[in-house]
Amino acid sequence: MTRRAELADNLADVRDRIARSCAEAGRPESSVTLIVITKFFPASDVHLLAELGVTDVGENRHPEAFDKRQACSGLDLRWHYVGGIQSNKAAVIGSYVDVVHSVDRPKLVGGLDRGAAQSPATDGDRPVGLDCLVQVSLDPPTHRGSRNGVATADLSALASLVQDAAHLRLVGLMAVAPLGEDPTVSFARLAEIRGQFLDEFPQATALSAGMSGDFEAAILAGATHVRVGRSVLGLRPTFE
Ligand SMILES: *Cc1c(COP(=O)(O)O)cnc(C)c1O
Repeated sequence: MTRRAELADNLADVRDRIARSCAEAGRPESSVTLIVITKFFPASDVHLLAELGVTDVGENRHPEAFDKRQACSGLDLRWHYVGGIQSNKAAVIGSYVDVVHSVDRPKLVGGLDRGAAQSPATDGDRPVGLDCLVQVSLDPPTHRGSRNGVATADLSALASLVQDAAHLRLVGLMAVAPLGEDPTVSFARLAEIRGQFLDEFPQATALSAGMSGDFEAAILAGATHVRVGRSVLGLRPTFE
């Protein structure tokens, strides 16, 4: 089987699973965006994915993300950054991606805003601004110190900082289900956090949740963006 046929098969399967979860949740299929996470896979795969109708791709590391975007510059794709961000890389990442999912601490906001200010994208004569999601931790409080997102108690303050930054747009929340817990339970907690978040930030309606192992559960809990790697591309060539 060619790589193209393999990706086409996998994509059809994932799209079918998304459609069934949407039906089960009583939501239109158009309410969920599939982001294919292409980390560790070559730019040639991204070209094939674009041919197969993928509109959104995600990466989790700089400079891999930058290099791949350069190698795919002719393609009409939205580039999402979903990985942890070192503070000193925030500006460069903010200058070349379209959406950042992993804003997890106040220290990143200034750099992302500076980077976004350099981005050439405009809507008429207004800068478009960089779409940002705040990554919230679903870890139990006893896991303090882990780096899986901002603690719920600090979420509102971080989201306000993003909202007030001149070149950033607060569009929603992102989360990763912690290992060792039923994702349905984790995502129920996320839905509750999101409910309160939307009271304060009603325009920030995006919810990025769900990976290969748990995107169905995430859609049932309200996810609008699922981040799927292995189920589309296969096993990653290297361990993380
Ligand atoms: C790698 C990654 C994914 C995709 O994971 P798969 O299990 O390959 O689907 C999703 N989200 C983040 C933040 C990732 O780093």
